[in-house]
Parts: sequence; structure tokens; C-alpha cells
Amino acid sequence: MLLTVFDPWKSQYCTCPPKLTFNPYTGCDHGCLYCYASSYIPNFQNCRPKKNLLSRLEREATKLEGELISISNSSDPYPRLEQKMGLTRKCLEMLAKTDCKLQIITKSDLVTKDIDILQTVPSVVSVTVLTKDDNLSRKLEPGAPVSSKRLTVIQTLIEAGIPTTARIDPVIPFLNDDMYELVETLADLGVMHLTCSTYKTKPDNWKRFSKSFPDISKKLSPLYFDQGERIGGSTYLPEALRFDLMKKAKELTEKRNMKFGCCRESFKLNSGVCDGSWVIRNNL
Ligand code: SF4
Repeated sequence: MLLTVFDPWKSQYCTCPPKLTFNPYTGCDHGCLYCYASSYIPNFQNCRPKKNLLSRLEREATKLEGELISISNSSDPYPRLEQKMGLTRKCLEMLAKTDCKLQIITKSDLVTKDIDILQTVPSVVSVTVLTKDDNLSRKLEPGAPVSSKRLTVIQTLIEAGIPTTARIDPVIPFLNDDMYELVETLADLGVMHLTCSTYKTKPDNWKRFSKSFPDISKKLSPLYFDQGERIGGSTYLPEALRFDLMKKAKELTEKRNMKFGCCRESFKLNSGVCDGSWVIRNNL
């Protein structure tokens, strides 16, 4: 099945509403150092379309009855390949003719080429942006468009009337945990909801991260591996530190009249549904 029930590793901390998940591509070429999906998808950097994608989706889409579909959770729906293949666009065209709501999660400016479709279907676009510093985003997410481009994407989407949220996911101590300027910029752009989550290590993402950020990883190592917690196959920061980071993000967010949600953190800090899907307009 292409459209499957969203169940992030059966995480006891997931507070997302019921929804389906769909990845047009297997793997992802953004190369994010902190990526979790690379730990369970073989040959992850070799981004490729799903086999018989369009014919399978056509069959499955006839059964939709108003579900929210999250696109994507184990890849970005706009890898560089999309520029050439346009498969995500074709999938959106198909889904827009059915009874569903769409939640696009991306780091790519390619989403703006599909604004015409998103204007016709109840939808939200969630743009992940970790920092205002393009040099840092280039190092953290070497294959993805830099932060400034993503902020322009947010502006373009909002100007086109597409409900748009942002994700600072992950928040990494000593690296991007001073969120003030970024949150201010997101608020100035008209973002209605911010979702945040702390960095949860898995062996392969930690290996990549510590190679690129040796000094920061030296400071993080005791926090994760001596004082942190093992939760659902990942190693989390100590609970008190995670709480402080999420509380700070919440305060910055709500001060600017945006709603806040945290992702797989177990804290009762959400002022909007955690994934920001509450911003979807159902009256299209
Ligand atoms: S965009 Fe998402 S799926 Fe792709 S490499 Fe980055 S974290 Fe992984």
C-alpha cells in the first residue's frame, strides 16, 4: 500500500491526529545530517520513485473518505528528482480530485510550482527551517535549499493563500537552540503555527553529525549517552533539558500570537494540534 496509517515507529509520545502517510519517493537526496529515516530505509541517499507509483495511487485514491494525508514523513516529497520527473505534482493532481486533505512537509522551493493545485484542495504546507544562517543550513542539510530560500517559500505560499506552518525540527543544543530571531522572522512572514522537536539520535545520524560537528558533539555526547534516555529506538536528551527547550520555543512562539506544538516530546505544551493541521481550511 502507498497510503498507510501514520504511525511513527509506534511512538508513545506521538500526539498527531489520525492521518495517512504517503511518500512518492523512496529515499531522499537532501542529506540531512540528523535524518532519522536513513536508519531504516536501505540505500537512502539514492532517491528513487516508488514502483508503479501513479497506477497504484490511482487505485488506492478511490477509497479515500476525507482523510488527512501527510506527504511525506520518510522522505521529502520534493527531492531534486522532482524537477525532472514531476511525480509529486502528478500525485497531487490525482489526490486533489478525491475526498482528502493534504499536509505537505518539505524543505524545498519546488513546492511553489504546485501552488495552483494546493489552492483547490484543503491543505497545509509545513516548511522545515532550523536556522536563519545559510552557512549552517548548508552544512546540516547539504542537498536541500538553504534557509533563506525556504523563508522565501513560506512568504510565497502565504501570499498565495496557502495555510503555512513551520517546523524547527530538530532543535540541537549549542547549534540552533537560540530560536529568537528565527521565530520572529516566521511570525513576521505570517506563519500561524510552529512545531518543534529536539534532536533524537540514532547511530547513523549521530555518526554523520559528530563527523561534521566534532566540537559540538563532544559537548552533546554526555547529555545523550550518559544523562539521556532511550525511547523507542532513539536516544533523547535528558527530560529536563528537552522541557526547557520546548518551553522556551513555546514562549517565543505564543508571544507572537502563533500556536505551538511539540513533536514526540511527551510534554503538555501544545496550544494547537501538534502537527499544525488545524490551520487547514475545509471550506474550499
Ligand atoms: S528532508 Fe527529511 S527525509 Fe530527507 S534527508 Fe532530510 S530529514 Fe531525511
